[in-house]
Amino acid sequence: MAASEARATAALISELCKQFYGLGWVSGTGGGISIRDDRGVWMAPSGVQKERIAPQDVFLLEARWDRAEVIEPPANPALRLSECQPLFFNAFRLRGAGAVIHSHSLWAVLAARVACPDGGAGVFRSRNLEMQKGLRGVGCFDELRVPIIPNTAREAQLRDSMAEAMVAHPDVDAVLVAGHGIYVWGEDWVRAKTQAECLDYLMRAAVEAHRLGLPL
Ligand SMILES: [Zn+2]
Repeated sequence: MAASEARATAALISELCKQFYGLGWVSGTGGGISIRDDRGVWMAPSGVQKERIAPQDVFLLEARWDRAEVIEPPANPALRLSECQPLFFNAFRLRGAGAVIHSHSLWAVLAARVACPDGGAGVFRSRNLEMQKGLRGVGCFDELRVPIIPNTAREAQLRDSMAEAMVAHPDVDAVLVAGHGIYVWGEDWVRAKTQAECLDYLMRAAVEAHRLGLPL
């Protein structure tokens, strides 16, 4: 296997991070993405400008969920593994996901705040919107329910509450984090990206409707 072929998924992560930056999902070094392939689990590094990540900056981890075992570290030894690693692993372990996206979208933060003004646990609801059809098992006239969990001081501390919310809501591939953002996954990166885009649209619709005083 050629070196470029062996790290094609790392190149894809680099490309997707640029797109997500344009959407406001990964600004200020926040957010990230992890994709699984035949070689293992690829993950963007922590605390770096996500729109400038190069393929050689991406970590390759073993696809085992009891610990984070790096197979191929980035070329730059100063880079650290993402704080999101245990949360990405939740989706791989509990749902067999092929990819997980973590977004710091302002729409996610505001939609969670509108649904739960105190910043605590709750549920984001949406119905009667065509874009719901981009989500697994949801029709446009169904009620979509996405769990919201309270934020923690360190990202990794969200691991257990995120896992509990996932078990309680097996019909949706996302967990909102109050005052923080959202985790969205799918069977592959295309499905994860599609669902993340549809959810971002629905959360924006909810926030704009709230602002306009519309009963959405
Ligand atoms: Zn985050």
